[in-house]
Amino acid sequence: MSEEKQEKHKALLQEGRKKYILQLEKQVLQLDNLVTQLEKDFELELAKYLYGIVHTIKGSAPIFGYQQAGVIASEIVNEWEWTQDKAVQQDVLLQEKEISVRVQQAKEHLLQLKTELEIYQKELVLDHENTEQSSVPLFPSIGCRLLMVDDDDIFRSFLVQRLKAEGYDVDEARDIRTAKKLLTEQSYDLITLDLMMYPQTGYDLFHFLNDDPKLKWIPLIVLSGRGNVEDKVRCLHLGADDYVAKPFQYQELEARIYRLLTRSKQFEYMAFRDPLTGVFNRRYFDLQLQAELNRVKRYPASLTLAIIDIDHFKQVNDTYGHHLGDLILQALCYMLESNIRATDILARFGGEEFILLFPQTTADQVSYILDKVMQDIRQQPVIEHEGIPHHVTFSAGITEWKEGQSALEMIKLADEALYEAKNQGRDRIVVKDKEGSIAFTVSEPLKKVLLVDDDKLTLSIVKSKLKELPIEMAEAQDGEMAYELLQKNRFDLCIIDGIMPRLDGFGLLKKMKSDPQLHHVKAMMLSSRKKEEDVVRGLMLGADDYMVKPFSLIELEIRVKRLLSIV
Ligand code: GH3
Ligand code: MG
Ligand code: MG
Repeated sequence: MSEEKQEKHKALLQEGRKKYILQLEKQVLQLDNLVTQLEKDFELELAKYLYGIVHTIKGSAPIFGYQQAGVIASEIVNEWEWTQDKAVQQDVLLQEKEISVRVQQAKEHLLQLKTELEIYQKELVLDHENTEQSSVPLFPSIGCRLLMVDDDDIFRSFLVQRLKAEGYDVDEARDIRTAKKLLTEQSYDLITLDLMMYPQTGYDLFHFLNDDPKLKWIPLIVLSGRGNVEDKVRCLHLGADDYVAKPFQYQELEARIYRLLTRSKQFEYMAFRDPLTGVFNRRYFDLQLQAELNRVKRYPASLTLAIIDIDHFKQVNDTYGHHLGDLILQALCYMLESNIRATDILARFGGEEFILLFPQTTADQVSYILDKVMQDIRQQPVIEHEGIPHHVTFSAGITEWKEGQSALEMIKLADEALYEAKNQGRDRIVVKDKEGSIAFTVSEPLKKVLLVDDDKLTLSIVKSKLKELPIEMAEAQDGEMAYELLQKNRFDLCIIDGIMPRLDGFGLLKKMKSDPQLHHVKAMMLSSRKKEEDVVRGLMLGADDYMVKPFSLIELEIRVKRLLSIV
């Protein structure tokens, strides 16, 4: 560990101790009151309360380096363990003599505890920093999100801070209700769970986790002051992966967390990830979709599903090979992942199709997210490979869950919406609701037109006529310049003059039509070469239209609209 990090841990430990001593003071005071009351008049509830407090001290004092306080608390715990036994509780009043012995013992232990506390307080004032034997964490952090459930505020926040200092993202819950809420809002890689809590115990969380297929497999470590074999066995049966009895050394906990995380990540990868792109696979997606559907049925919320499919991907593969196709799939996944939240799920649905699930999100919101990605990849190449930028677009179908809908129905609707998006011309989003109607289409891009002419006057006349159409225009003064622009940007139509310097109109047309990346770009010749053989040559080279100069501006507009399917 770097020196800087070591310093940080030391500072955290010192700060943790300060707060802890304040808590211990309060606890000792409470114990004092309880023992006095119990001495006068025995009440089982008070005895249980006392047990709860010493139990907490036993678990947390040693982590701050206060071993002796832990030992004393642990002795009281042993003496009062019977308060936790249901059978004993029935005839507790029969054992009055026994009880008064216990109360006296507790009184003595409490005195010892007070002495310890005084020592700790003095130490703290003198700033005698007990250097913990091994404050060096053994492992690097791996940037995972943890949830720590424990009702001991000081103990919990001390651990949380130390784990955060390692680089973990850590959320904390002081009771089961908060833990449940966080678990529905966030996705976690690991949970640590205390058992003795109020009003619900750690055991209540097990049932909640086991009922939810999405939460069931989150690695879980029980951190409990209860060190008996029954609790351990019970927790492991209920689904805990590990059990660390308090008190423990921080280093041990961190090592166990690290081990469990690396192992479970590895398994998760093998079972649930697509090897090429690293996103989830269909199997995982199906499980999650089912879990989310179960959840919205119980706690109604919005849930939206989207399927996306890369446009003309076969062409990319055919032209540049499978390897480049693979790289594009990876790059697109990366873009998508950086635009969704940790709780959203992206999975490979097959080939060049991906499926996404957005809990607590409406179709409108998902359209907005996907529209942003679409705009991004229209503007910048999805990858640059060996110096060549590559552009792709995709189409998306979206549907939002409605009461009574099954997983299959949702997938079917999103698929139909996707089909519709492809039919409407690709590079767009279609949203479809339960009634089957197309709710709305977003993100239809403005058509882009490239005007190529060496005559500035013609350029400006054409531009001023076409500017009323919903299109974007760019211009080039010769064929070479036009070809460069065509390679870098996505155009829908290119209007080409015949005679130009460097590369003339026919030369440009020939180059365009032999470049597979430009197959989709329509070409219109606008030439003063009006001989029949010129027109035929242009059309043979692949021009989609041919107009001769001088031309009627109205006719030009009509022909451009037809070529771009603008109604
Ligand atoms: P459309 O716009 O209609 O979706 O056309 P398209 O060409 O994208 O669709 P089509 O379904 O005809 O072709 C999909 C292509 O995706 C076929 C296959 O070559 C390619 N593909 C599927 N899986 C992979 C993969 O893992 N790697 C690569 N490189 N290509 C893949
Ligand atoms: Mg496709
Ligand atoms: Mg496809």
